[in-house]
Amino acid sequence: MSILTNFDSEYEGSPAVRLQTLRQHEDLRIALEGEGHSYRTKIVPPRGRTHRRPKGRPREIVVILVREHECSADCWCGPTLDDEAEELVYVHHSLDGREREVH
Ligand SMILES: [Zn+2]
Repeated sequence: MSILTNFDSEYEGSPAVRLQTLRQHEDLRIALEGEGHSYRTKIVPPRGRTHRRPKGRPREIVVILVREHECSADCWCGPTLDDEAEELVYVHHSLDGREREVH
C-alpha cells in the first residue's frame, strides 16, 4: 500500500497529514523519500483555539504532499478529455478547484 493513503487531511488545497511527534515525522519522511514523493513540512499551532494554547499541548507537524501533474489521462487528478478541442487536450483538476490544461 502506498504511503499516500496516509494523506487524509488537507492544507491550503493540497493533501496533507498531521503528526504529533518528530518520530512520526521521521518515519513518514523515510517512507515518502523511499517512494520518491516531494513534500513540505510545516509546524503549525493546534487547530481550534487561536489565541490561547493550553500548556503542554503540542504544535502539529503538517506534512504537505507536493504533487506534479502527469501529462496523461492516468494523472492522479483524474483529468477529463476535452471533446471540442482539435488536439488531444486533457483538462487537469487542481486540488483547490482551479483547472489547467495540459496538451
Ligand atoms: Zn493532472
